[in-house]
Amino acid sequence: MSENVRIGVFVCECGTNIASTIDCDKLVEYAKSLPDVVFSIKNRYTCAEPGQQEIQKFIKEENLNRVVIASCTPKMHEPTFRNCVIDVGFNPYLVEMANIREHCSWVHHNEKSAANVKARDLVNSAVSRARFLEPQKELEVPVTHSALVIGGGIAGIQSALDLAESGFDVHLVEKEASIGGIMAQLNKTYPTID
Ligand code: SF4
Repeated sequence: MSENVRIGVFVCECGTNIASTIDCDKLVEYAKSLPDVVFSIKNRYTCAEPGQQEIQKFIKEENLNRVVIASCTPKMHEPTFRNCVIDVGFNPYLVEMANIREHCSWVHHNEKSAANVKARDLVNSAVSRARFLEPQKELEVPVTHSALVIGGGIAGIQSALDLAESGFDVHLVEKEASIGGIMAQLNKTYPTID
């Protein structure tokens, strides 16, 4: 990699959600010891406005070109952090997250020593991955709003109806001469005895 990688690691305490199990000061020190990490700091609540402003500030001041956030699941705040860095002209795909809450402090709060080892491993992994991230561009491409449903049994019929109600053109294909599948062969159905 020709680029001089400069990774910043932001460790979130999440109030006491993370901080009551993970020693965030030690995790920051550990992050600073990793190759290509040029900056690390902890925040009380990284997703809150002051936490996001801190990320933006240090991207500029420390000339970061990769950001690792050790906090909660990406499902919850990856969009938040991607939008946060876009505001300072940073490519959002150069952000990586380490889930030290759901995957660590919450599930291992009775095993603090092991939880801290795992938190370091998760941060190390995220930093290793961040090192190889490439900036990405989002594209918009036209899609054809039509669907092919194979099989005209009850499931296929219902799927075709649901898709049609959602605005798709639907093509329903059935190998037999009529639709209905197994259902069409039944005389009566339980519990309605129709
Ligand atoms: S970023 Fe996640 S872990 Fe940190 S304060 Fe917000 S919800 Fe909690």
